[in-house]
Amino acid sequence: MTDDMWDWHDANGFTRIVNVSGTMTGLGASVTGAAAREATAAAMGRFVKMHELQAKASGVIARLTGGEAGLVTASASAGISLSVAGCITGLDAARAEALPCAPGPKAGVVVQAGHLCHYGAAIDTAIALAGGVTRPIGTATLCADHQLAAALDETVAAALYVVSHHVVHYGQVPFDRFVEIAHSKGVPVIVDAASEYDLTGFIAKGADLAIYSGHKFLSGPTSGIVAGRRDLVRAAYLQNIGIGRGMKVGKESIAGVIAAMESWMVRDAGAIRERERAALALWIEEVEGLPGIRAEIVPDPTQNPLERLEVNIDAAAAGASAARFAAAFAEQDPVVIVRDHEVELGYFQLDPCNLLPGQAELVAEALKQVLSNGHALADGPEADPRNAGVNGYLTWLATE
Ligand SMILES: *Cc1c(COP(=O)(O)O)cnc(C)c1O
Repeated sequence: MTDDMWDWHDANGFTRIVNVSGTMTGLGASVTGAAAREATAAAMGRFVKMHELQAKASGVIARLTGGEAGLVTASASAGISLSVAGCITGLDAARAEALPCAPGPKAGVVVQAGHLCHYGAAIDTAIALAGGVTRPIGTATLCADHQLAAALDETVAAALYVVSHHVVHYGQVPFDRFVEIAHSKGVPVIVDAASEYDLTGFIAKGADLAIYSGHKFLSGPTSGIVAGRRDLVRAAYLQNIGIGRGMKVGKESIAGVIAAMESWMVRDAGAIRERERAALALWIEEVEGLPGIRAEIVPDPTQNPLERLEVNIDAAAAGASAARFAAAFAEQDPVVIVRDHEVELGYFQLDPCNLLPGQAELVAEALKQVLSNGHALADGPEADPRNAGVNGYLTWLATE
């Protein structure tokens, strides 16, 4: 790590952070590569016809995803709202302006109950912002074909399918079947694949619109990408005269994410994977043999091409719980943020995707320091991922 790695943090009084939790909004999402940074800076100093810039983005998105067209939004969440709105209104300006209050009789959005997730905000809020009415089907852990088919009546504008580690992974209608049933009823399928590496598969299998985050694995500036059918992409873009205004994406983000997509298409995926695996190997070596600690490399739950280190804690032998260890990593300098959202199950994970040069070694040191010291650390606060999201907002600026 170069000394100037922390210059910016130190000059501003910001906490030094090493992120091994993944792509998290609360930590600034991802870090962009040089090409995206340069493209962003180049756009900032110029005027441009935004329709031309979005048309250029559409071409790149089409090449990247295999969709007919595409557009850049402020975020994937905005992409969900604009996609739902587009399915409700079509290319009708008056109907777009009537959202969200007067969507008309065809505003239903069918979602499996097990897909109603929370990614920092509840997904049905993104639907409601567009005037859509969420129609949950099935139960959290079971949705049958007939339940999907029965819900797809003439009041339904779209069916939303969510691909994510946040959703229930059994008892759900598989994607191919979901598309088959929806299309048999003439209902378009929107896929929220915000955090997925598979940029072509959902559209190839019949998704009418697929949504990705520009700032997750693509490492672009904050943005969302909507890809798919040209008529629906155009209808989604039209929403900028209405509900989309408050979700405006700037020229800098569009230019930056175009560069990020271009970089993605020519990246050396093998070399990136090797670097990530080297970090995992280094960390395993560091924790091997520590009492009460069992580390194993686990695949991504939605088959993204990456692995994480899962550190299982036997609290009695290790001296502290997984939740306590997760909090203790965040007390180090630099702060190490581990992936703690399943910490109540007795483990946390380390995600190597967002490491900067030299940081794998910092994490290795912290692992040894913290995990060999459980008995001394035991009395501190525990990580509380369930409440941490909202508490961060409730306590912001609350004290001097
Ligand atoms: C992250 C995420 C979102 C939101 O993405 P943003 O681009 O941050 O708005 C939506 N859906 C899923 C499944 C996600 O993982």
